[in-house]
Amino acid sequence: MAPARSRFDSLHVAVIGAGAAGLVAARELRRESHSVVVFERDTQVGGLWVYTPHNEPDPLSLDPNRNIVHSSVYDSLRTNLPRECMGYRDFPFVPRPEDGESRDPRRYPSHREVLAYLQDFAREFKLEEMVRFETEVVRVEPEGRKWKIRSRNSDGISDDEIFDSVVVCNGHYTEPRVAHVPGIDSWPGKQVHSHNYRVPDPYKDQVVVVIGNFASGSDISRDITGVAKEVHIASRSNPSETYQKLPGSNNLWLHSMIESTHEDGSVVFKNGKVVQADTIVHCTGYKYHFPFLNTNGYITVEDNCVGPLYKHVFPPALAPGLSFIGLPWMVKSLSFILLSSSFFSKWVAAVLSGRVTLPSEDKMIVDVTALYAKRDANGLPKRYTHRLGASQVAYLNWIAEQIDAPPVERWRGEEIEGGYRRLATESDTFRDKWDDDHLIAEAYEDFLRQKL
Ligand code: FAD
Repeated sequence: MAPARSRFDSLHVAVIGAGAAGLVAARELRRESHSVVVFERDTQVGGLWVYTPHNEPDPLSLDPNRNIVHSSVYDSLRTNLPRECMGYRDFPFVPRPEDGESRDPRRYPSHREVLAYLQDFAREFKLEEMVRFETEVVRVEPEGRKWKIRSRNSDGISDDEIFDSVVVCNGHYTEPRVAHVPGIDSWPGKQVHSHNYRVPDPYKDQVVVVIGNFASGSDISRDITGVAKEVHIASRSNPSETYQKLPGSNNLWLHSMIESTHEDGSVVFKNGKVVQADTIVHCTGYKYHFPFLNTNGYITVEDNCVGPLYKHVFPPALAPGLSFIGLPWMVKSLSFILLSSSFFSKWVAAVLSGRVTLPSEDKMIVDVTALYAKRDANGLPKRYTHRLGASQVAYLNWIAEQIDAPPVERWRGEEIEGGYRRLATESDTFRDKWDDDHLIAEAYEDFLRQKL
């Protein structure tokens, strides 16, 4: 680990990515008096929320040399979190009178509203002046105690620059994970990953099998039911006998996982049902991917476990020069990503300035080892390392303590729990029907108090 620096240092810091995490990282680093350069390969801020109707030509995105489309947002997407619990704490994601009628005031608004909110955030805090647009980071490596970043601009011109520190905020919903399905190599139908799903039209009159039944799987299967002949959801978390017609449409069934696929186009589920399908849509999640990172093998990504990382943020031997924001996920895809990114950002900024100290490298390694041991003892695969599950609020409160911030508000924790329950049991209506108005009232009271 680098030696302890004098207190309140101001460092030259690179942030990779200008999505929800990179924007708040830039803000917090600058608040702590660091000089910040944000590298963003797109032409605008917002990351994942910059919707594009285009998708990648390789529908499963397996080709490592493909032209990458960053966003995985589909046209009909509405947030899976209520807006009041989704935003940054001191810049609530709530409808504002000055926004006018062009905005989407719903509690679970469309993806366009999230992008508009992130643009408002960037404007309010003048963050764009730190961003180098259309500049992709292609290599990051240690150079003595500092970090060398190679970037390439839209003219293809490369540049090397030295920074004291690098904060990685490159997003984790772009590199698809594809389910292994027995017999798939000789199955003649089409396959696509949800990363490349935009609109239902290509599935008109088709029989479609959707693998995965959480946020994206549930949304996309319902989106397709409007045009498809039949939609069958295959879910590995369901018992093998599962076979259920789902409410809200007349052509949607829930099954257990796929048992096998065959040359004649048939798909056999573990419940014994067989369908002749045209397309399989993999809503099976994403992989952490840092193609630019060269740490001589110190940091590895193995079965989606990025490590070693102290509290999912700092690699012990390279801390605090290198840090990662936005890795842990909470329950399925319901996470306080924006809130947690702001907590991590404040922590990283304060550690870099020397206002907050990290434990020794050895102690950080002990902590990481204990995390792995607990995961293994619970029989969980490595890919669950960054899943916080029920410990999400305790974890965020630990970070809050480090940065002297108030703990996660009670209403926020309860809203996410309730939302999770409703998403699991009322996936067709959870965005428009709820029973937690008292929590909304508490949230708005909090926002008002903050303003006073
Ligand atoms: P991103 O938004 O992906 O931003 C990463 C940025 O890094 C991008 O701008 C990208 O261009 C840039 N970049 C990447 N590599 C490089 C490079 N080498 N050089 C330069 N720039 C680079 N979260 C919620 O809170 N609520 C929701 O309702 C919700 N719904 C979701 C729905 C879907 C379908 C998905 C996939 C995710 C959803 N999420 C939701 C999670 C969402 O990812 C986060 O809200 C948030 O967008 C993550 O921000 P980020 O900055 O970590 O990543």
